[in-house]
Amino acid sequence: MSFKLICLFFCFFYTSSFAKNEILPLKLIAQAKSLMKSSLNSFTGYKLIESLTTEVGPRLAGSAAEKRARQWAVENFKKLGFKNIRVEPFEVQHWERVKEFASITSPYPQALSITALGGSISTPKTGIEAELVSFATLGELKRAPLKGFKGKIIFVDEKMTRTQDGSGYSVAVKKRSGAAIEAGKRGALAALIRSVGTDHHRFAHTGQMKYEKGVAAVPIAALSAPDADQLARSLSRSKKVIVKLNIQINATGKRPSGNVVAEIPGKRDEIVLIGAHLDSWDLGTGAVDDGAGVGIVMAAANEILKLGIKPNRTIRVVLFGSEEVGLVGAEAYVKKHRDELDKHIVGAESDFGARKIWRMDTFFAQEKLKIAQAILEVLEPLGIAKGNNEAYGGPDIIPLRKAGVAAVTLKQNGWDYFDLHHTADDTFDKIDSGEISQNVAAYSAFAWMCANINDDFKSASLEKNEKKN
Ligand SMILES: [Zn+2]
Repeated sequence: MSFKLICLFFCFFYTSSFAKNEILPLKLIAQAKSLMKSSLNSFTGYKLIESLTTEVGPRLAGSAAEKRARQWAVENFKKLGFKNIRVEPFEVQHWERVKEFASITSPYPQALSITALGGSISTPKTGIEAELVSFATLGELKRAPLKGFKGKIIFVDEKMTRTQDGSGYSVAVKKRSGAAIEAGKRGALAALIRSVGTDHHRFAHTGQMKYEKGVAAVPIAALSAPDADQLARSLSRSKKVIVKLNIQINATGKRPSGNVVAEIPGKRDEIVLIGAHLDSWDLGTGAVDDGAGVGIVMAAANEILKLGIKPNRTIRVVLFGSEEVGLVGAEAYVKKHRDELDKHIVGAESDFGARKIWRMDTFFAQEKLKIAQAILEVLEPLGIAKGNNEAYGGPDIIPLRKAGVAAVTLKQNGWDYFDLHHTADDTFDKIDSGEISQNVAAYSAFAWMCANINDDFKSASLEKNEKKN
Protein backbone atom coordinates (compact mmCIF):
# COMPACT_ATOMS: atom_id res chain seq x y z
CA MET A 1 0.00 0.00 0.00
CA SER A 2 1.35 3.45 -0.90
CA PHE A 3 1.80 6.13 1.77
CA LYS A 4 -1.07 8.11 0.21
CA LEU A 5 -3.37 5.12 0.39
CA ILE A 6 -2.43 4.46 4.01
CA CYS A 7 -3.20 8.10 4.84
CA LEU A 8 -6.52 7.86 3.03
CA PHE A 9 -7.37 4.63 4.86
CA PHE A 10 -6.62 6.12 8.28
CA CYS A 11 -8.43 9.30 7.39
CA PHE A 12 -11.52 7.29 6.44
CA PHE A 13 -11.22 5.07 9.52
CA TYR A 14 -10.90 8.10 11.81
CA THR A 15 -13.80 10.08 10.32
CA SER A 16 -16.10 7.06 10.09
CA SER A 17 -15.55 6.07 13.73
CA PHE A 18 -15.92 9.70 14.78
CA ALA A 19 -19.14 9.98 12.79
CA LYS A 20 -20.47 6.92 14.62
CA ASN A 21 -20.30 8.79 17.91
CA GLU A 22 -20.22 12.46 17.01
CA ILE A 23 -20.64 13.79 20.53
CA LEU A 24 -17.65 12.11 22.12
CA PRO A 25 -14.08 12.62 20.91
CA LEU A 26 -12.23 9.38 20.15
CA LYS A 27 -9.77 10.01 22.95
CA LEU A 28 -12.58 10.24 25.50
CA ILE A 29 -14.16 7.04 24.19
CA ALA A 30 -10.80 5.28 24.47
CA GLN A 31 -10.37 6.50 28.07
CA ALA A 32 -13.90 5.36 28.97
CA LYS A 33 -13.23 1.95 27.45
CA SER A 34 -9.97 1.60 29.34
CA LEU A 35 -11.82 2.50 32.58
CA MET A 36 -14.39 -0.19 31.83
CA LYS A 37 -11.62 -2.72 31.25
CA SER A 38 -9.71 -1.88 34.41
CA SER A 39 -12.95 -1.85 36.47
CA LEU A 40 -13.97 -5.28 35.23
CA ASN A 41 -10.63 -6.61 36.47
CA SER A 42 -10.82 -4.86 39.84
CA PHE A 43 -12.15 -6.12 43.18
CA THR A 44 -12.07 -2.72 44.92
CA GLY A 45 -15.86 -2.30 44.97
CA TYR A 46 -16.41 -5.81 46.31
CA LYS A 47 -13.73 -5.35 48.99
CA LEU A 48 -15.23 -2.03 50.12
CA ILE A 49 -18.66 -3.64 50.57
CA GLU A 50 -17.05 -6.48 52.54
CA SER A 51 -15.21 -3.97 54.72
CA LEU A 52 -18.25 -1.74 55.42
CA THR A 53 -20.63 -4.59 56.19
CA THR A 54 -18.08 -6.38 58.40
CA GLU A 55 -16.40 -3.50 60.23
CA VAL A 56 -19.54 -1.37 60.70
CA GLY A 57 -22.44 -3.73 60.02
CA PRO A 58 -26.00 -2.37 60.44
CA ARG A 59 -26.00 1.45 60.45
CA LEU A 60 -29.38 2.86 61.37
CA ALA A 61 -29.94 6.57 60.69
CA GLY A 62 -28.79 8.70 63.61
CA SER A 63 -27.15 5.78 65.44
CA ALA A 64 -23.59 5.44 66.79
CA ALA A 65 -23.07 2.83 64.03
CA GLU A 66 -23.98 5.38 61.36
CA LYS A 67 -21.34 7.67 62.86
CA ARG A 68 -18.80 4.81 62.61
CA ALA A 69 -19.84 4.39 58.97
CA ARG A 70 -18.99 8.06 58.35
CA GLN A 71 -15.58 7.53 59.94
CA TRP A 72 -15.13 4.40 57.81
CA ALA A 73 -15.97 6.39 54.66
CA VAL A 74 -13.58 9.25 55.50
CA GLU A 75 -10.72 6.80 56.21
CA ASN A 76 -11.32 4.84 53.01
CA PHE A 77 -11.66 7.95 50.83
CA LYS A 78 -8.30 9.08 52.27
CA LYS A 79 -6.67 5.72 51.61
CA LEU A 80 -7.87 5.80 47.99
CA GLY A 81 -6.46 9.31 47.44
CA PHE A 82 -9.60 11.45 47.12
CA LYS A 83 -9.53 15.23 47.76
CA ASN A 84 -11.83 17.64 49.68
CA ILE A 85 -13.06 14.84 51.95
CA ARG A 86 -15.53 16.07 54.54
CA VAL A 87 -18.57 15.19 56.63
CA GLU A 88 -21.49 17.59 56.17
CA PRO A 89 -23.50 17.22 59.39
CA PHE A 90 -27.24 17.49 59.95
CA GLU A 91 -29.71 16.13 62.50
CA VAL A 92 -32.26 13.36 62.25
CA GLN A 93 -35.12 12.17 64.43
CA HIS A 94 -33.96 9.24 66.58
CA TRP A 95 -35.91 5.96 66.35
CA GLU A 96 -34.86 2.43 67.28
CA ARG A 97 -36.66 -0.83 67.96
CA VAL A 98 -36.33 -2.33 71.43
CA LYS A 99 -38.67 -5.30 71.30
CA GLU A 100 -41.22 -6.77 68.91
CA PHE A 101 -43.50 -9.74 69.32
CA ALA A 102 -46.75 -10.97 67.83
CA SER A 103 -48.81 -14.13 68.14
CA ILE A 104 -52.18 -15.58 67.26
CA THR A 105 -53.90 -16.16 70.59
CA SER A 106 -57.11 -17.64 69.17
CA PRO A 107 -58.20 -19.91 67.58
CA TYR A 108 -54.74 -21.39 66.80
CA PRO A 109 -52.23 -20.01 69.34
CA GLN A 110 -48.76 -19.60 67.85
CA ALA A 111 -46.04 -16.98 67.41
CA LEU A 112 -45.78 -14.83 64.28
CA SER A 113 -42.65 -13.44 62.64
CA ILE A 114 -42.98 -9.65 62.48
CA THR A 115 -40.93 -6.47 62.51
CA ALA A 116 -41.93 -2.96 63.50
CA LEU A 117 -41.94 -0.40 60.70
CA GLY A 118 -39.54 2.51 61.09
CA GLY A 119 -41.19 5.48 62.81
CA SER A 120 -43.94 3.40 64.46
CA ILE A 121 -45.00 4.24 68.00
CA SER A 122 -44.95 1.59 70.75
CA THR A 123 -47.93 -0.43 71.85
CA PRO A 124 -48.79 -0.19 75.56
CA LYS A 125 -46.14 -2.03 77.64
CA THR A 126 -48.34 -5.11 77.95
CA GLY A 127 -49.20 -5.10 74.25
CA ILE A 128 -52.48 -5.10 72.40
CA GLU A 129 -54.75 -8.09 72.05
CA ALA A 130 -57.60 -7.68 69.59
CA GLU A 131 -59.62 -9.14 66.78
CA LEU A 132 -58.12 -9.01 63.32
CA VAL A 133 -59.91 -7.48 60.32
CA SER A 134 -58.33 -8.27 56.97
CA PHE A 135 -58.24 -6.22 53.77
CA ALA A 136 -56.93 -7.58 50.48
CA THR A 137 -55.40 -4.24 49.47
CA LEU A 138 -54.77 -0.74 50.80
CA GLY A 139 -57.33 0.46 48.25
CA GLU A 140 -59.96 -1.81 49.80
CA LEU A 141 -59.14 -0.42 53.26
CA LYS A 142 -59.38 3.15 51.96
CA ARG A 143 -62.83 2.43 50.54
CA ALA A 144 -64.06 0.84 53.79
CA PRO A 145 -66.39 2.88 56.06
CA LEU A 146 -64.80 4.90 58.86
CA LYS A 147 -67.01 3.24 61.49
CA GLY A 148 -67.01 -0.35 62.76
CA PHE A 149 -63.27 -0.90 63.37
CA LYS A 150 -62.86 0.53 66.86
CA GLY A 151 -60.71 -1.72 69.05
CA LYS A 152 -59.65 -3.95 66.13
CA ILE A 153 -56.28 -4.70 64.51
CA ILE A 154 -56.35 -3.96 60.79
CA PHE A 155 -54.41 -6.33 58.52
CA VAL A 156 -53.54 -5.34 54.93
CA ASP A 157 -52.70 -8.51 53.02
CA GLU A 158 -51.63 -6.93 49.73
CA LYS A 159 -49.04 -8.87 47.70
CA MET A 160 -46.21 -7.28 45.75
CA THR A 161 -45.52 -8.02 42.08
CA ARG A 162 -42.00 -9.16 41.18
CA THR A 163 -40.52 -7.00 38.40
CA GLN A 164 -37.09 -6.33 36.96
CA ASP A 165 -37.42 -2.55 37.10
CA GLY A 166 -38.85 -2.23 40.62
CA SER A 167 -42.24 -0.95 39.43
CA GLY A 168 -43.93 -3.46 41.79
CA TYR A 169 -42.35 -1.67 44.75
CA SER A 170 -43.77 1.76 43.98
CA VAL A 171 -47.25 0.20 44.17
CA ALA A 172 -46.63 -2.00 47.24
CA VAL A 173 -44.82 0.65 49.28
CA LYS A 174 -48.01 2.72 49.45
CA LYS A 175 -49.37 0.15 51.90
CA ARG A 176 -46.31 0.65 54.13
CA SER A 177 -46.81 4.41 54.29
CA GLY A 178 -50.61 4.43 54.25
CA ALA A 179 -51.85 1.53 56.41
CA ALA A 180 -51.31 3.12 59.86
CA ILE A 181 -53.03 6.33 58.72
CA GLU A 182 -56.08 4.45 57.40
CA ALA A 183 -56.21 2.30 60.57
CA GLY A 184 -55.95 5.45 62.72
CA LYS A 185 -58.80 7.13 60.83
CA ARG A 186 -61.01 4.13 61.64
CA GLY A 187 -60.24 4.01 65.36
CA ALA A 188 -58.32 0.71 65.12
CA LEU A 189 -55.77 -0.16 67.81
CA ALA A 190 -52.96 -1.19 65.48
CA ALA A 191 -52.10 -2.18 61.92
CA LEU A 192 -50.30 -5.16 60.42
CA ILE A 193 -49.20 -5.46 56.82
CA ARG A 194 -47.89 -8.29 54.66
CA SER A 195 -44.22 -7.31 54.20
CA VAL A 196 -43.34 -5.17 51.20
CA GLY A 197 -41.26 -7.90 49.55
CA THR A 198 -41.27 -10.69 46.99
CA ASP A 199 -39.68 -13.56 48.95
CA HIS A 200 -41.19 -16.61 50.61
CA HIS A 201 -38.74 -16.73 53.50
CA ARG A 202 -39.62 -16.06 57.09
CA PHE A 203 -38.03 -12.62 57.15
CA ALA A 204 -40.23 -9.61 57.76
CA HIS A 205 -39.30 -6.42 55.83
CA THR A 206 -39.04 -3.17 57.73
CA GLY A 207 -39.08 0.32 56.15
CA GLN A 208 -40.30 3.78 57.00
CA MET A 209 -44.01 4.32 57.69
CA LYS A 210 -45.97 7.57 57.98
CA TYR A 211 -48.46 9.26 60.26
CA GLU A 212 -50.76 12.10 59.30
CA LYS A 213 -51.35 15.24 61.33
CA GLY A 214 -54.76 15.15 62.96
CA VAL A 215 -55.11 11.37 62.62
CA ALA A 216 -54.62 9.12 65.67
CA ALA A 217 -51.21 7.38 65.55
CA VAL A 218 -51.37 3.58 65.83
CA PRO A 219 -48.46 1.11 66.05
CA ILE A 220 -47.68 -0.83 62.88
CA ALA A 221 -45.63 -3.91 62.03
CA ALA A 222 -44.96 -6.06 58.95
CA LEU A 223 -45.44 -9.83 58.86
CA SER A 224 -43.13 -12.13 56.90
CA ALA A 225 -44.88 -13.55 53.81
CA PRO A 226 -45.39 -17.07 55.31
CA ASP A 227 -46.88 -15.49 58.46
CA ALA A 228 -49.23 -13.35 56.39
CA ASP A 229 -50.26 -16.58 54.62
CA GLN A 230 -50.77 -18.23 58.01
CA LEU A 231 -53.06 -15.40 59.16
CA ALA A 232 -55.00 -15.56 55.88
CA ARG A 233 -55.50 -19.34 56.32
CA SER A 234 -56.59 -18.86 59.93
CA LEU A 235 -59.09 -16.20 58.84
CA SER A 236 -60.50 -18.52 56.16
CA ARG A 237 -61.20 -21.17 58.85
CA SER A 238 -62.45 -18.99 61.67
CA LYS A 239 -64.61 -15.86 61.66
CA LYS A 240 -62.75 -14.51 64.68
CA VAL A 241 -58.95 -14.46 64.84
CA ILE A 242 -57.37 -12.79 67.87
CA VAL A 243 -53.83 -11.44 67.60
CA LYS A 244 -51.50 -10.12 70.28
CA LEU A 245 -48.98 -7.45 69.30
CA ASN A 246 -46.25 -5.92 71.40
CA ILE A 247 -43.86 -3.38 69.87
CA GLN A 248 -41.56 -1.30 72.05
CA ILE A 249 -39.49 1.41 70.44
CA ASN A 250 -37.21 4.16 71.65
CA ALA A 251 -37.43 7.65 70.13
CA THR A 252 -35.74 10.49 71.94
CA GLY A 253 -35.43 13.64 69.86
CA LYS A 254 -32.75 14.56 67.37
CA ARG A 255 -29.44 12.78 66.80
CA PRO A 256 -26.43 13.69 64.66
CA SER A 257 -26.17 12.30 61.13
CA GLY A 258 -24.27 13.47 58.06
CA ASN A 259 -23.33 13.13 54.40
CA VAL A 260 -19.77 12.17 53.50
CA VAL A 261 -18.42 13.99 50.45
CA ALA A 262 -15.17 13.37 48.52
CA GLU A 263 -13.96 14.72 45.21
CA ILE A 264 -11.72 14.37 42.20
CA PRO A 265 -11.31 18.11 41.53
CA GLY A 266 -11.81 19.21 37.93
CA LYS A 267 -10.51 22.15 35.92
CA ARG A 268 -13.91 23.87 35.98
CA ASP A 269 -16.22 24.37 38.95
CA GLU A 270 -18.95 22.15 37.49
CA ILE A 271 -19.95 18.95 39.27
CA VAL A 272 -20.79 15.42 38.18
CA LEU A 273 -22.36 13.79 41.23
CA ILE A 274 -22.37 10.04 41.80
CA GLY A 275 -23.82 8.82 45.07
CA ALA A 276 -25.14 6.07 47.30
CA HIS A 277 -26.47 6.03 50.87
CA LEU A 278 -24.39 5.13 53.85
CA ASP A 279 -27.16 4.33 56.36
CA SER A 280 -29.07 1.05 56.38
CA TRP A 281 -31.89 -0.54 58.30
CA ASP A 282 -30.96 -2.29 61.53
CA LEU A 283 -32.02 -5.88 60.77
CA GLY A 284 -29.37 -6.97 58.24
CA THR A 285 -25.92 -5.54 57.56
CA GLY A 286 -27.09 -3.36 54.67
CA ALA A 287 -25.11 -5.20 52.00
CA VAL A 288 -27.44 -4.86 49.01
CA ASP A 289 -29.11 -1.75 50.49
CA ASP A 290 -26.91 0.12 50.15
CA GLY A 291 -23.43 -1.17 50.95
CA ALA A 292 -23.33 -2.23 47.29
CA GLY A 293 -23.97 1.31 46.07
CA VAL A 294 -21.30 2.69 48.43
CA GLY A 295 -18.73 0.20 47.12
CA ILE A 296 -19.74 0.79 43.49
CA VAL A 297 -19.45 4.60 43.42
CA MET A 298 -16.30 4.72 45.59
CA ALA A 299 -14.60 2.11 43.40
CA ALA A 300 -15.79 3.76 40.17
CA ALA A 301 -14.25 7.09 41.18
CA ASN A 302 -11.15 5.24 42.35
CA GLU A 303 -10.67 3.80 38.85
CA ILE A 304 -10.82 7.38 37.55
CA LEU A 305 -8.25 8.49 40.14
CA LYS A 306 -5.95 5.74 38.90
CA LEU A 307 -6.07 7.25 35.38
CA GLY A 308 -4.09 10.16 36.80
CA ILE A 309 -5.76 12.73 34.51
CA LYS A 310 -7.52 15.81 35.87
CA PRO A 311 -11.14 15.81 34.61
CA ASN A 312 -12.68 18.98 33.15
CA ARG A 313 -15.49 18.86 35.67
CA THR A 314 -15.25 17.85 39.33
CA ILE A 315 -16.40 14.31 40.09
CA ARG A 316 -18.09 14.42 43.48
CA VAL A 317 -18.91 11.23 45.36
CA VAL A 318 -21.65 11.74 47.96
CA LEU A 319 -22.49 9.07 50.53
CA PHE A 320 -25.81 10.28 51.89
CA GLY A 321 -26.80 9.72 55.51
CA SER A 322 -30.31 8.95 56.82
CA GLU A 323 -31.82 7.99 53.46
CA GLU A 324 -34.00 5.19 54.79
CA VAL A 325 -35.94 7.39 57.18
CA GLY A 326 -37.06 9.87 54.52
CA LEU A 327 -34.20 11.27 52.38
CA VAL A 328 -33.03 13.47 55.27
CA GLY A 329 -29.43 13.56 53.99
CA ALA A 330 -30.53 14.36 50.45
CA GLU A 331 -32.62 17.32 51.65
CA ALA A 332 -29.72 18.54 53.82
CA TYR A 333 -27.39 18.32 50.80
CA VAL A 334 -29.65 20.47 48.63
CA LYS A 335 -30.02 23.01 51.45
CA LYS A 336 -26.27 23.24 52.03
CA HIS A 337 -25.38 23.42 48.32
CA ARG A 338 -28.22 25.71 47.25
CA ASP A 339 -25.82 28.28 45.81
CA GLU A 340 -24.04 25.80 43.57
CA LEU A 341 -26.96 23.67 42.40
CA ASP A 342 -26.70 25.17 38.92
CA LYS A 343 -23.13 23.84 38.80
CA HIS A 344 -24.38 20.26 39.19
CA ILE A 345 -24.56 19.07 35.62
CA VAL A 346 -25.84 15.57 36.34
CA GLY A 347 -26.62 13.31 39.33
CA ALA A 348 -26.83 9.51 39.57
CA GLU A 349 -27.21 7.29 42.63
CA SER A 350 -26.57 3.55 42.94
CA ASP A 351 -29.30 2.28 45.29
CA PHE A 352 -31.10 -0.69 43.80
CA GLY A 353 -29.12 -3.68 44.96
CA ALA A 354 -26.06 -5.46 43.65
CA ARG A 355 -27.13 -7.00 40.35
CA LYS A 356 -25.87 -5.95 36.90
CA ILE A 357 -26.96 -2.72 35.25
CA TRP A 358 -29.17 -3.52 32.26
CA ARG A 359 -30.67 -0.16 31.30
CA MET A 360 -29.81 3.53 31.26
CA ASP A 361 -32.64 5.97 31.95
CA THR A 362 -32.14 9.73 31.64
CA PHE A 363 -33.95 12.88 32.68
CA PHE A 364 -32.57 15.22 30.00
CA ALA A 365 -34.08 17.95 27.86
CA GLN A 366 -34.99 16.54 24.41
CA GLU A 367 -32.20 18.50 22.76
CA LYS A 368 -29.66 16.78 25.05
CA LEU A 369 -30.78 13.21 24.41
CA LYS A 370 -28.06 12.87 21.79
CA ILE A 371 -25.53 13.06 24.66
CA ALA A 372 -27.32 10.18 26.38
CA GLN A 373 -27.20 8.17 23.15
CA ALA A 374 -23.46 8.81 22.73
CA ILE A 375 -22.73 7.72 26.32
CA LEU A 376 -24.97 4.69 25.95
CA GLU A 377 -23.10 3.53 22.84
CA VAL A 378 -19.92 3.32 24.90
CA LEU A 379 -21.66 1.44 27.74
CA GLU A 380 -23.49 -1.01 25.44
CA PRO A 381 -20.76 -3.72 25.57
CA LEU A 382 -21.55 -4.03 29.30
CA GLY A 383 -25.04 -5.22 28.34
CA ILE A 384 -26.73 -1.88 29.01
CA ALA A 385 -29.71 -0.94 26.83
CA LYS A 386 -31.55 2.30 26.22
CA GLY A 387 -34.24 3.08 28.79
CA ASN A 388 -36.73 5.94 29.13
CA ASN A 389 -36.31 9.68 29.71
CA GLU A 390 -38.08 9.67 33.07
CA ALA A 391 -35.13 8.73 35.28
CA TYR A 392 -35.42 9.74 38.91
CA GLY A 393 -31.71 9.18 39.40
CA GLY A 394 -32.04 7.28 42.71
CA PRO A 395 -33.86 8.33 45.92
CA ASP A 396 -31.23 10.81 47.12
CA ILE A 397 -31.19 12.49 43.70
CA ILE A 398 -34.93 13.33 43.93
CA PRO A 399 -34.42 16.69 45.75
CA LEU A 400 -31.66 17.64 43.27
CA ARG A 401 -33.85 16.64 40.36
CA LYS A 402 -36.65 18.80 41.78
CA ALA A 403 -34.16 21.67 41.87
CA GLY A 404 -33.55 21.26 38.12
CA VAL A 405 -30.48 19.02 38.02
CA ALA A 406 -30.34 16.51 35.13
CA ALA A 407 -30.53 12.91 36.36
CA VAL A 408 -29.45 9.50 35.12
CA THR A 409 -30.39 6.07 36.46
CA LEU A 410 -28.02 3.25 35.65
CA LYS A 411 -30.73 0.72 36.37
CA GLN A 412 -29.77 -2.54 38.03
CA ASN A 413 -31.68 -5.76 37.59
CA GLY A 414 -34.09 -5.70 40.53
CA TRP A 415 -35.72 -9.09 39.94
CA ASP A 416 -34.70 -10.49 43.36
CA TYR A 417 -33.83 -7.22 45.16
CA PHE A 418 -37.07 -7.23 47.13
CA ASP A 419 -36.40 -10.75 48.41
CA LEU A 420 -33.75 -9.21 50.67
CA HIS A 421 -34.63 -5.52 50.89
CA HIS A 422 -34.91 -4.24 54.51
CA THR A 423 -34.70 -7.76 56.01
CA ALA A 424 -32.30 -9.53 58.35
CA ASP A 425 -31.23 -11.48 55.26
CA ASP A 426 -29.58 -8.44 53.60
CA THR A 427 -26.01 -9.62 54.23
CA PHE A 428 -22.67 -9.72 52.41
CA ASP A 429 -22.93 -13.34 51.16
CA LYS A 430 -25.55 -12.14 48.63
CA ILE A 431 -22.96 -9.97 46.81
CA ASP A 432 -21.38 -11.26 43.58
CA SER A 433 -18.00 -9.69 42.77
CA GLY A 434 -18.48 -9.98 38.99
CA GLU A 435 -21.79 -8.15 39.06
CA ILE A 436 -20.30 -5.41 41.26
CA SER A 437 -17.40 -4.96 38.79
CA GLN A 438 -19.89 -4.51 35.93
CA ASN A 439 -21.54 -1.71 37.96
CA VAL A 440 -18.17 -0.12 38.74
CA ALA A 441 -17.27 -0.26 35.03
CA ALA A 442 -20.50 1.49 34.05
CA TYR A 443 -20.24 4.20 36.75
CA SER A 444 -16.56 4.94 36.09
CA ALA A 445 -17.01 5.27 32.31
CA PHE A 446 -20.26 7.22 32.77
CA ALA A 447 -18.80 9.69 35.29
CA TRP A 448 -15.63 10.16 33.24
CA MET A 449 -17.57 10.88 30.03
CA CYS A 450 -19.94 13.30 31.80
CA ALA A 451 -17.00 15.09 33.41
CA ASN A 452 -15.15 15.58 30.13
CA ILE A 453 -17.80 15.82 27.44
CA ASN A 454 -17.64 19.07 25.52
CA ASP A 455 -21.29 19.86 26.02
CA ASP A 456 -23.54 20.89 28.85
CA PHE A 457 -26.47 18.95 30.28
CA LYS A 458 -30.01 20.09 30.83
CA SER A 459 -32.79 18.61 32.89
CA ALA A 460 -36.11 17.66 31.31
CA SER A 461 -37.87 19.69 34.02
CA LEU A 462 -36.11 22.91 32.97
CA GLU A 463 -37.29 22.29 29.43
CA LYS A 464 -40.86 21.72 30.65
CA ASN A 465 -40.72 24.97 32.70
CA GLU A 466 -39.47 26.92 29.67
CA LYS A 467 -42.39 25.59 27.63
CA LYS A 468 -44.84 26.66 30.35
CA ASN A 469 -43.50 30.25 30.49
ZN1 LIG B 1 -31.52 2.04 49.71
